Amino acid sequence: MSMIFEKSFERSLDALVARFSDASMKGATVEAWLFDDLQSRKAAEAKLQAFGVSAKLHSAYKPLVHFFLEDVDCGNLKQISIAYPAHEACTPNRFLLETYPLSKLTSDAEVGFKPSGKQDFTYQVSLTDKNGIVTQHEVFAPNRTHEDAVGETLLSPTGWLKITHQGTVTSERFETDFEQLFHAGIAAVANHAWGDTEPYFEELNIAVTLPVKDQKLTHAEEAISLTEALHEDFYFALLEVFQKKSGRPLGDRGLQPGQIVPEITYADAAPSIRITARALSTKDSTGESQTLATAQAPLFAAQIAQELEHIGGEAFEAKSRSGRSVLGRYIKGTDEPMIISGGQHANETTGVVGALRAAHELKSRKGAHFTISPQENPDGYELHRRLCADNPKHMHHAARYTAMGDDLEYRSGEKLWEKAIRTQAEALTGAKLHVNLHGYPSHEWTRPLSGYIPRGFGMWTLPKGFFLIVRHHSDWAQQSEELVDHVTRHLSAIDGLVEYNNAQIALFEKHAGETGFRIINGFPCLIGVDDRHTVPLTLITEYPDETIYGKDFIRGHTAQMETVLSAYEALQKLSAKWYIA
Ligand SMILES: [Zn+2]
Repeated sequence: MSMIFEKSFERSLDALVARFSDASMKGATVEAWLFDDLQSRKAAEAKLQAFGVSAKLHSAYKPLVHFFLEDVDCGNLKQISIAYPAHEACTPNRFLLETYPLSKLTSDAEVGFKPSGKQDFTYQVSLTDKNGIVTQHEVFAPNRTHEDAVGETLLSPTGWLKITHQGTVTSERFETDFEQLFHAGIAAVANHAWGDTEPYFEELNIAVTLPVKDQKLTHAEEAISLTEALHEDFYFALLEVFQKKSGRPLGDRGLQPGQIVPEITYADAAPSIRITARALSTKDSTGESQTLATAQAPLFAAQIAQELEHIGGEAFEAKSRSGRSVLGRYIKGTDEPMIISGGQHANETTGVVGALRAAHELKSRKGAHFTISPQENPDGYELHRRLCADNPKHMHHAARYTAMGDDLEYRSGEKLWEKAIRTQAEALTGAKLHVNLHGYPSHEWTRPLSGYIPRGFGMWTLPKGFFLIVRHHSDWAQQSEELVDHVTRHLSAIDGLVEYNNAQIALFEKHAGETGFRIINGFPCLIGVDDRHTVPLTLITEYPDETIYGKDFIRGHTAQMETVLSAYEALQKLSAKWYIA
């Protein structure tokens, strides 16, 4: 293991208390915006009160949502009207997005949003109570324009300090502990001498503790979590640093820096960061097996291997960077063959169970003909388990890619590693249809210090139901339409699934605008030409499963399984027509 950077930071709340507890500040009024939880902010307010300083300490993260959580009694309201600002350095709906999921947190009060047309970082809030009395409020959302580590200009939330003392008012940016820690960590990695050969490291570990507790919200899987948000910001910002270093475009999925692992946890101590380069972990976690159909949580690796044994057929495999096996099975029969895969992005876990459940069902059918590789990214999968031990419900995008740091699907050339499981499946079957099971965040995904909206993933920031993507060769457009029609008709018969989609889409539209998707039989769909794949027709599922458990998890892998089964049926029914065409 080698140490790259280590530092702890004075808590901003402690710094403010120290500064304003000086006798010369008595009688001052202080407003500050910080990346801290309510409990800590209230404790600091009380300390300052004892020194004769009147303090109001706000959240710098999602300040409008916090205003309603902390300062408004929504139970007494009939109507809420919010005018949100805009800014030339961000998308027009950025400040609307930050209000998510307010409209589900306001009791039975109706909430309306409209643009204010101003660039003043201020929400104009009008509250009408049940007696018809109207009050007006201004909610400040401090932001700054800045250049990030890769030279892009962004508008990001920031700390702020407003002091009224002896007739003088000052109002200016206040760089918080949370921001200092992030920028110091990114700079330490960016300035390190990594050499010129990828991968630069095995595991790059970013261990951070923050004294900020997650706050569960009353809607669905939503929570305010600065530990989760910082994980996301560190992971993607560091990918961007290495994309730039390697001369690749931002967002390039072929970059192979090594495994970047931000481990951001809660500790009741000053914020601290410790960055090390260390060896890859090669051990699999172990635990109890679950009954597949009622599995309430992701499976352990040993059970995935056992289930494949039960499915039988011809075994084939590939290897990951750390030496783990990517397992596949080929069930040879007289049907039209289909390729089934899951776990390409290893923090998307319902597809693994859905693929196995579908394979168990199909193998008992006469003529069954398919391959299955339910977990294509075992190094990422073990990392996901490790990260979930500390924060079980976070989305953990560091577990998305492989231990190389790349998206396995984007590999080419001789060293395919995990991707070899796909080329083998294609060689074994000659299949024309690949069903590739995926997921995405079950709750809001942000990068608070890098423009708030995850760069390159703008369409994935909020859940919007179970949806399907079809990528097809240019002469397979008609087949794509027929496949999607068949599959969505089948899925629409699943109890509650269309209603689940409709509720998420309605909330998405309230806080983000149009989905930009076609809705086919109740399911959002994206159908497009993509000649990157050798298989002419690829059906990709997207279930909001990062990271869910219990009944929600069962609903997720059931939807995945039903998609595989109905795609298989569509293939059998339609293939004769498709291939002639
Ligand atoms: Zn995915």
